[in-house]
Amino acid sequence: MDRNSNLPQDIVRAIRSVVGDGPLALHEPRFNGNEWVYLKECLDSTYVSSVGKFVDRFESDLAAFTGAKRAVAVVNGTAALHVALRLAGVEAGDEVLLPALTFIATANAVVYCKATPHFVDSEDRSFGMDAVALRDYLSSATELRDNHCISRGTGRIIRAMVPMHTFGHPVDIEALLAVAHDFHMQLIEDAAESLGSTVGGKHTGTFGLMGTLSFNGNKTITTGGGGAILTNDLELGKRAKHLTTTSKLPHRWNFVHDEVGYNYRLPNLNAALGCAQLEQLPSFLADKRRLFERYQAAFASVQGVRLVVEPAGCHSNYWLQTLLLDESQANQRDAVLTVTNDAGLMTRPVWALMNRLSMYSNAPKAPLPMAESLERRLINIPSSSGLLSVAP
Ligand SMILES: *Cc1c(COP(=O)(O)O)cnc(C)c1O
Repeated sequence: MDRNSNLPQDIVRAIRSVVGDGPLALHEPRFNGNEWVYLKECLDSTYVSSVGKFVDRFESDLAAFTGAKRAVAVVNGTAALHVALRLAGVEAGDEVLLPALTFIATANAVVYCKATPHFVDSEDRSFGMDAVALRDYLSSATELRDNHCISRGTGRIIRAMVPMHTFGHPVDIEALLAVAHDFHMQLIEDAAESLGSTVGGKHTGTFGLMGTLSFNGNKTITTGGGGAILTNDLELGKRAKHLTTTSKLPHRWNFVHDEVGYNYRLPNLNAALGCAQLEQLPSFLADKRRLFERYQAAFASVQGVRLVVEPAGCHSNYWLQTLLLDESQANQRDAVLTVTNDAGLMTRPVWALMNRLSMYSNAPKAPLPMAESLERRLINIPSSSGLLSVAP
């Protein structure tokens, strides 16, 4: 198709037709529930720190909402990934498969385990790891030795894969689980962006050995900072709680720690915020879906770009609304970013591929044709769940 030279203006018009006037952030938190009540309860009780009833309640509320047997609350999503990888057996000298198209936390958590990220390509349906390309790649790039998947290029064990549900859209998790099984590696889901997203009715983050969530300020619900580990393995859940709470053995007064643990506990104050936010999650999700539908109508007639829709069979939380420029319009991405931001509409490109960052430029990687194409074409547009309630 020809270049649509009005594309930046067309996009501003389409967004404005949905959200009205005024400057707009990419994603703002919303505190319309019991936040003040629960925070006051924390202060009045003096339990503001690492123990308190809201931590226990937040963990059980999260388990109930996601259907996971156990949820362990931690300080942030990166810490959740770090501990999940440790518990999956990732050790110094291992490799871990990750999408090149992800937020930096996924890759950093691998390095915290003294392992090396190994980047793989994305599919254009969910923007997450491409199970078909991955199976092909592993068939030629690895061999099985002593029940371990060994990278032919580096001789190292590929211990695990960490698919990520990009912008809340579920990746093809069943196909990836089959690849993980066939190539003898663990699967940890980075579900930081996909709270509320399901595949065949089952919550993302509950398919793999463990899943991780984030409650950073820009996520669908926030605890200020926070994260969680989900698992259906109660023994692993117990290990996660132990390792994230300094590995202290319970005792009335003795300080005995049985391994080098982490102080990754979520403070009670943050958990109180989380409990209040979780109560509102169903309404946030409904509002996000309504916003998606309004954008979809507005963008139907704009040439050269499409609004991203949840994959078939999946239910997305629509965390960040996303535009995908046609290949023929990719060279207008920066113009779109400039014109929209100049118009007071906060838009952002997708992350730079991990392999472009200096610390990961020498990491092993598969061919990345789709990730490289998506990197030039994805743009997130204002997505706050409260947008329509403030629009005229
Ligand atoms: C937000 C996010 C995380 C975790 O981030 P924290 O700020 O540490 O909570 C991890 N992975 C992805 C893909 C994310 O978007």
